[in-house]
Amino acid sequence: MVEIKTDTSLQAMREAGRVVAHALAAVREQAAPGVTLVELDRIARAVLDEAGAGSPFLGYHPDWTPVPFPAVVCASVNDAIVHGIPDDRPLADGDLVSVDCGATLGGWVGDAAVSFTVGRARAEDTRLIDTAYAALEAGIGAAVVGNRIGDIAHAVGRVCRRAGYGIADGFGGHGIGRSMHEDPGVPNEGRPGRGMPLRHGMVIAIEPMLIAGGGDHHYTAADGWTVRTLDGSRAAHTEHTVAITDDGPRILTAL
Ligand code: MG
Ligand code: MG
Repeated sequence: MVEIKTDTSLQAMREAGRVVAHALAAVREQAAPGVTLVELDRIARAVLDEAGAGSPFLGYHPDWTPVPFPAVVCASVNDAIVHGIPDDRPLADGDLVSVDCGATLGGWVGDAAVSFTVGRARAEDTRLIDTAYAALEAGIGAAVVGNRIGDIAHAVGRVCRRAGYGIADGFGGHGIGRSMHEDPGVPNEGRPGRGMPLRHGMVIAIEPMLIAGGGDHHYTAADGWTVRTLDGSRAAHTEHTVAITDDGPRILTAL
């Protein structure tokens, strides 16, 4: 079931989203070669604590994995696409990092992700990341009343495929509100004009996950969480929580 949010609820979700934006900005600012992923998690945790927000990631335990998630961010490096568990490995020059963060504030959840490189970037990583942001932007642009979920999926997928990248198979965005994952699912590839019609008050997370090597396949690492590209190529992941409104898409996880 899709919950249509009231305008008051959208305002409350904007506050939750703003906390996520601040956490990700802080992480990005501090990330550098030599910094560990656990340190990045601590930085995000401090922002959540300061705002009085909880983490929908910490202790999250869906039935497909044996272990609850142990951190407030997912930190996925190089061939890791999503769901990376922050560990004490220091970042290296040229690493590609995707950080996903959620916050719960006043009972509402925000969810967003950024991809960036630390140190000297490889040109091919910059292109991959730029495309991940372009795909996100295209998806947000299609998140308008009168369109359908398939229009968003198509917009995201087209940007990825035209650039020659793979799209992580079986993963995608989702409705979001009082809990992190609600209906509807928001695939990263699809046919325009298909699926659920978009209405004022729907809130969704749009999150392209691109694979540099061009294939769509991945596997879950032995830690039960980290999703890695099957071909070992690098991946990028970007995400915003977006409200569909009569005035157009509203990015709730912007700064
Ligand atoms: Mg996320
Ligand atoms: Mg999400």
